[in-house]
Amino acid sequence: MRQNSSTEKVVIYPGSFDPITRGHLDIIERSAALFNRVVVGVLMNPDKAPLFSLEERIKLIRSAVSRFDNVEVDSFNGLLIDFARQRQSHLVVRGLRAISDFETEFQMSLNNKRLAPEVETMFMMTRNEYSFLSSSVVKQIAKFNGDVSDLVPSEVEEALKKKYALK
Ligand code: ADP
Repeated sequence: MRQNSSTEKVVIYPGSFDPITRGHLDIIERSAALFNRVVVGVLMNPDKAPLFSLEERIKLIRSAVSRFDNVEVDSFNGLLIDFARQRQSHLVVRGLRAISDFETEFQMSLNNKRLAPEVETMFMMTRNEYSFLSSSVVKQIAKFNGDVSDLVPSEVEEALKKKYALK
C-alpha cells in the first residue's frame, strides 16, 4: 500500500454500493480527476441486509474501477470519520441526486463535522442522466428481468442476472 505524503489529497467515497452503478462510477471518475487518490469505502452495515455480500460488492467495484490507477477499494465498519482518520484523509465526497438526498446528507455531514472538525464533506451533483439512478432501482428492475445495461457496468449486469437466477 502506498504511503500518503503530506501533500497528497486523498478523498474517501463511502457507501453501500449494493451494487455499484454508473451513477457511482461517474462520481468516482470525476473525483479521480480532481484528487490524487480516491478510496472507495464499502460499508459493512450489520443493520442492512445487502443483496451482494461485502466480498461481492468489493469485487464488482474493483472490476469497474480497474481502468483508474488512482482509485482503490477498501471496506469499513463503524464511524466514517474513524475510517477517514485511519486512511489519513480529511476529505469525504458524497453524491447528490435530488433534494431528498440533501436532508440526510446535511445531517450526516454536520454530525461528522462535530465528531471530526478536520474532516470536510464535499458534495458532487449527479449528472442529469443519472439523477433517477440508485442501487435499489437497479435491483427492482433486474429482479423482474428488465434491462439495466445502461445503468450498471456489464459485470454488475451479469452478477444481477445470476443473483436473480435469470440466466
Ligand atoms: P449509502 O447507503 O451510503 O447512501 P449508496 O451506495 O447508496 O450508499 O451511495 C453512496 C453515495 O453515492 C451517496 O453519496 C449517494 O448519494 C451517491 N450516489 C448514489 N447514486 C448516485 C447517482 N446516481 N448519482 C450521483 N451520486 C449517487
